[in-house]
Amino acid sequence: MIEIDGSQGEGGGQIVRTALSLAACIGKAVRIRHIRQGRKKPGLMRQHLACVNAIRQVCNGRVQGASIGSRELLFEPGVIAAGDYRFSVGSAGSTCLVLQTVLPALMQSGKSSTIVLEGGTHNPLAPSYHFIERAFMPVLMQKGLRYEMAIERYGFYPVGAGAWRINLTPPQHYQQWRIEDRGRLVFIKGFCLSAKIPEHVVERERKQLIKSLDLNPDNVVAKQVDSLGAGNIVLLQAEYERICEVTACIGSVGVGAERVAKNAVDLLRRYQSGGAPVSQHLADQLLLPLLVGGGGSFVTTRLTEHCFTNIAVIEQMTGVKIDIAPLPGERNFRVVVPQKVGLMGGKNGGMALA
Ligand code: ATP
Repeated sequence: MIEIDGSQGEGGGQIVRTALSLAACIGKAVRIRHIRQGRKKPGLMRQHLACVNAIRQVCNGRVQGASIGSRELLFEPGVIAAGDYRFSVGSAGSTCLVLQTVLPALMQSGKSSTIVLEGGTHNPLAPSYHFIERAFMPVLMQKGLRYEMAIERYGFYPVGAGAWRINLTPPQHYQQWRIEDRGRLVFIKGFCLSAKIPEHVVERERKQLIKSLDLNPDNVVAKQVDSLGAGNIVLLQAEYERICEVTACIGSVGVGAERVAKNAVDLLRRYQSGGAPVSQHLADQLLLPLLVGGGGSFVTTRLTEHCFTNIAVIEQMTGVKIDIAPLPGERNFRVVVPQKVGLMGGKNGGMALA
């Protein structure tokens, strides 16, 4: 039984997701105490509960304490099974974080899986569907994981009720993945998407993007999307030779369309001026897939508290040491995730720990 303190570091929901994902991968039980102690409303919320239930299904596990508000969870994984799954968050909570909870286990299952996810698709403070599709999954594709994904309906806060599907096929052997620089900028595309709000909003956002970044108008889309609730988001996809970054700003009442577009632009400019290929969000999200998928190293910008907390939980769960080295003369860091864990051995055909 591994004991994890949910109040450590940032004290948020990521501690729960990382601990459960890794417990499934290594086939060891985990007890998490003081869940989300660092948050205003501690304990499990609906979106975290969706992650608990999803990982429990994927590895046929048993769980105690899985209820809203719960501050302690005991999780005993069974055997990971690839297959067809449907996970509903039951609120506008992020479906992308549910995917990231089950992904490491399914990555090492050796067989294809199809997952339908229902809930929020474009949430503040979480990766968007587009971030997963265009920034996160392409890295895993470079490691050998094949995937196809499609969105059926958008889910914006507060209604949620979005739906999307992903098919995953793990390789026989994962490739090491190393990235030191982005390579040349290939293109920037903009997406101004909205549902159930006046059409001029996305048109104004589109104009602003073209103006701010001097974009080719053909590369900037303004469109209405299918969603049960109202919503608006501006997304920017910057595709480089070796990496892609997606920045986003969600429209909200009282914030002008031009401001929403400018916020997405500011985030992109910040990424571009930092020089590192891996953005701060991608950095914390890649740690687990790299760990179960053959290791790798990347250069990233200043590490967040979120990332440090994630690293600490990974080390406590697996004993694996993730190396972080500042790059001389730069503000950036190289993160090395070792290939300590292979696809052979261990319960679940999973990680054989050193
Ligand atoms: P809590 O409610 O306790 O904060 P949570 O589970 O909702 O927990 P976090 O633990 O903060 O949320 O984790 C959020 C995740 O979303 C992190 O992996 C972070 O990198 C990612 N994330 C946040 N904003 C973005 C963004 N704009 N683009 C991509 N990823 C993002």
